[in-house]
Amino acid sequence: MDAPRFSELAVETPDLPAVEAEYAEIAAAIERHARGDGLHDAVRRWDALRTRLETWLSLARVHFTQDTRDAAARRERERADELAPRFQGLDVGVMRALLAEPRRSALSGLVGDQALALWECAVAAFDPVIEEDKVREAKLAAEYTELMASAALPVNGEVCNHETIYRFLEDPDRAVRREAQRVRWAWFAEHGERLDAIYDALVRLRHGMGRKLGHVDYLPMAYQQMLRIDYGAEDVARYRDAVREHVVPLAAELRARQARRLGVDRLVFWDEFVMDPAGNPKPAGDRAWMVERARELFSAVGGGLREFFDAMVERDLLDLDAREGKAPGGYCDFFGAYRVPFIFASFSGTKRDAEVFTHEMGHAFQVWSSRDAFPFDVIWPSMDACEIHSMSLEFLSAPYMELFFGDDAERFRRLHLEQSLLFLPYGVAVDHFQHLVHERPEASPAERHALWQEVERRYLPWRDYGDLPRLPGGGLWQGQLHIYTSPFYYIDYTLAGVCALQYAAWAERDRAEALDSYVALCHRGGTAPFQALARGAGLESPLDPGCLERVVAHARTALG
Ligand code: ZN
Repeated sequence: MDAPRFSELAVETPDLPAVEAEYAEIAAAIERHARGDGLHDAVRRWDALRTRLETWLSLARVHFTQDTRDAAARRERERADELAPRFQGLDVGVMRALLAEPRRSALSGLVGDQALALWECAVAAFDPVIEEDKVREAKLAAEYTELMASAALPVNGEVCNHETIYRFLEDPDRAVRREAQRVRWAWFAEHGERLDAIYDALVRLRHGMGRKLGHVDYLPMAYQQMLRIDYGAEDVARYRDAVREHVVPLAAELRARQARRLGVDRLVFWDEFVMDPAGNPKPAGDRAWMVERARELFSAVGGGLREFFDAMVERDLLDLDAREGKAPGGYCDFFGAYRVPFIFASFSGTKRDAEVFTHEMGHAFQVWSSRDAFPFDVIWPSMDACEIHSMSLEFLSAPYMELFFGDDAERFRRLHLEQSLLFLPYGVAVDHFQHLVHERPEASPAERHALWQEVERRYLPWRDYGDLPRLPGGGLWQGQLHIYTSPFYYIDYTLAGVCALQYAAWAERDRAEALDSYVALCHRGGTAPFQALARGAGLESPLDPGCLERVVAHARTALG
């Protein structure tokens, strides 16, 4: 890897008039050339410019999440939030020009059909009339992130944030985990009005954007934004029904079994996070220890993961320590100008550390594998396919979890499988909720809370919140970052999760073959849409009739 260390990565803050002038030159070159080298050169120049601007946006956002209290980082991120929609507007202008014949036909050999289809999506989902709305949307989403990051939650004599509190939410002592939930949801109750107001503003804004683009509501725009090319809202609705039919009964059985294991006659929300009375397995060391063990782990997985991981460590491209002021969540980003990924997480000393670690490494390995793809648009696939790489690596690395958990590894594997199944109903509930919200954008915050209760009854019928604040009235969704910051993203995790469960089953039959397919899928990057990528890798599309039934049947056998 011939790239500098993370601290040395820097892209100058773009100057909008200068960027606009560069785009104008590119547009003029496209205007002059209908085909041939002249057109190709213009497209390459545009691609290099986008790569530079995207790298700046990524760095600005990464620096802010690393310390949300840093005033300079905040200013840079605010600048990024303002400029991103301007860049998007400029890109859409170029795409529109390239998609018009005869240029479109002249380009299919250079950029491929998938890039052309992605540009069509991007053009459909954006118009200069919504540019100001996009800026406001980013501000509102950042308001949510900052509010969440500001939480100081006192539990057991320690002050936690929404990430580090997980340790106590999983505490084997029922009184401790109950208190941790109480503190967490009392915080949501205290900030409930503000959380409602931010979401209300987001829903109305997003609905308005959909209308400005000529749709009845936000839905079509949301699907285009998520770059869903080979399926639509009806497929997703059928899929949610299949989850309800095949996964919800299994999940209810798993919850009943969990209650028996924990020895409680009533499984209350604070019990759900603890899968057995010994408590959840914990990694046997801290972050530095885990990074050391991870070398061995990725060596054992094979497929080039060890070499890649070493390069990430050497270049300091992992930020895994929990720190005050750090934004919640874990993610992987990519700095195209340097052709390197970056991983962000806040380790909390729980089994989640191992999960987040292998998850984000899956993303990073994929984007690294396809970093030379052209154009820029097809380096990453759409998010549904991206999450296959991450969630599948969680399963493909599971056979080596002795390295993190020692004798507890078998228990970790079992819990990981159970939780992957239990996740599916929750994931579709988050998706269904957003559909219902956007079908009735004028609903009041109280009505939205009632909608959440409706989807909870449908997909999570075992839910019992006891005497916790905020939750019995339908407040759980406010802890789900994606609803605020990445609308309609959530279903992607469940679609990819079903693919990952297929990889888990495949690896049981033939580990080498499953890994080969996985590595090849990573190398394909975003050169095809979701279902085509899944089928091309030898998996069934989760949207195919019967797929969920088969995946559930296999999981039942695996769980005995
Ligand atoms: Zn992910």
